[in-house]
Amino acid sequence: MGVETLGDNVITTSLDKVVNWSRSRSLWPMTFGLACCAIEMMATGAARFDLDRFGIIFRASPRQSDCIIIAGTVTKKMLPVIMTVYEQMPEPKYVIAMGACACSGGIFDTYSVVQGIDEHLPVDVYIPGCPPRPEGLMYGLIKLQEKIMRERNSFGAAIGIGEVINDA
Ligand code: SF4
Repeated sequence: MGVETLGDNVITTSLDKVVNWSRSRSLWPMTFGLACCAIEMMATGAARFDLDRFGIIFRASPRQSDCIIIAGTVTKKMLPVIMTVYEQMPEPKYVIAMGACACSGGIFDTYSVVQGIDEHLPVDVYIPGCPPRPEGLMYGLIKLQEKIMRERNSFGAAIGIGEVINDA
């Protein structure tokens, strides 16, 4: 992954890789659920599946979160709340669409349901299923970690020089 060793005690790498590594291994999702998919999300965070071992720890405030998992049906009535929570999260921030409802409206092709949260938020990872099992959410989170590891100019963006480049 771009890390070289010089002898036993010295490694060389790039600042981007260090920033990406630290970000991807300390994802803190917002504690926020919308419908039945949120039950699977809660199970993923609990003892049996134990997301803490990936450094993924749910936070109770958007101001301490860098990831939001859209877990459930997004109604048009709830959308302004989601947007407010998202806007309160600091940069860089990531979005996971969990389940058929968040990805595409699912079975609810009705006037009151948003037909995919990607109409309003920049989704990084889509997880299919109704609902996805905890293993599916864990796989999606690992894919997000891999995507963060591919980002370029992470350090530059952090100190105000240019933008993060993500070709993935
Ligand atoms: S995808 Fe299925 S399980 Fe998830 S919120 Fe929609 S109806 Fe519920």
